[in-house]
Amino acid sequence: MIVVMRPGAAPEQIQHVVDLVHEFGLKDHVIYGTDRTVIACLGDKRMVEKDAIENAPMVEKIVPILAPYKMASLEVKREKTTIAIGPEGFRIGDVKVGVIAGPCAVESREQLLETALAVKAAGGIGLRGGAFKPRTSPYAFQGMGREGLELLAEAREQTGLAIVTEVIGTEQVKLCADYADVLQIGARNMQHYPLLEAVGKVTTPVLLKRGMSASLDEFLLAAEYIINAGNPNVILCERGIRTFETYVRNTLPLAVIPALRERTHLPIVIDPSHGTGRAQMVPAMSLAAVAAGADGVILECHPNPERAASDGAQSITPQSFSDLMGRLRPVAQAVDRDL
Ligand code: PEP
Ligand code: MN
Repeated sequence: MIVVMRPGAAPEQIQHVVDLVHEFGLKDHVIYGTDRTVIACLGDKRMVEKDAIENAPMVEKIVPILAPYKMASLEVKREKTTIAIGPEGFRIGDVKVGVIAGPCAVESREQLLETALAVKAAGGIGLRGGAFKPRTSPYAFQGMGREGLELLAEAREQTGLAIVTEVIGTEQVKLCADYADVLQIGARNMQHYPLLEAVGKVTTPVLLKRGMSASLDEFLLAAEYIINAGNPNVILCERGIRTFETYVRNTLPLAVIPALRERTHLPIVIDPSHGTGRAQMVPAMSLAAVAAGADGVILECHPNPERAASDGAQSITPQSFSDLMGRLRPVAQAVDRDL
């Protein structure tokens, strides 16, 4: 439930409500709006004496939160969340659309730096690259590990790009957080709850990918795990879902953008690379994602896709990335954004 305070409630009056909330065994989440303050109360509400809270000074009303997720919900926070990422402080969720690109996996210094410089030159704000890869086959390339993280840090040093890298196990959260600006939780791990809680305990922003068969409620409840553990900086990423269709690797449902906007204040990023599995389809779906209101796009880009250690078929070249950026800008502007 949410306790809505009257405009002008004093800090002591807000604190008094927070104390009552704790007294009833609930956790508080105070949101200071421009007009009024609201206090979301989280936990088991069976023991709560609602009247005691409702009658407290300057309380206007108590309203239930209908969605199963709470802090991720628009019911608790109406203004869009913007999250600062990277050394240059780009805010994802704000007017500017953020484009993040880079290889599926970090493979070598040359590969990474060449890509990073091209991404920066074309106007990207982030560099993606997996150092720990969640591969379907145990025999496939598993990533460079710590060495990959070192290379990502070097690329950030040279370009100022925000580093986005995947963390696949709880034991790597600290290590990855030491290097990355954004921790990616992959589709396969969207319901790895101990991992969600572990990234919830650091302050590094999290890019949470939707599981390939997860409903939107499940997706938002996964975000709720991270926020509930203490990290409000969650960026949602749609990367395509499994359907009966075989002409694409995954089916990219761009309707999640307006659907999520009706439910959550969190920023939304689209991944047309995993969303299609085919490089030729990536530009069109990137344009469509921005037209549909995405706050960002994350793309796989490789200097030599044919030779990529993973996901070469869906990786675009630096040249086509640069061409795409030129086409994305007018689309962003047409929907009152910028790039
Ligand atoms: C990736 O970003 O390379 C990746 C493994 O993504 P996903 O979790 O969406 O499959
Ligand atoms: Mn990939």
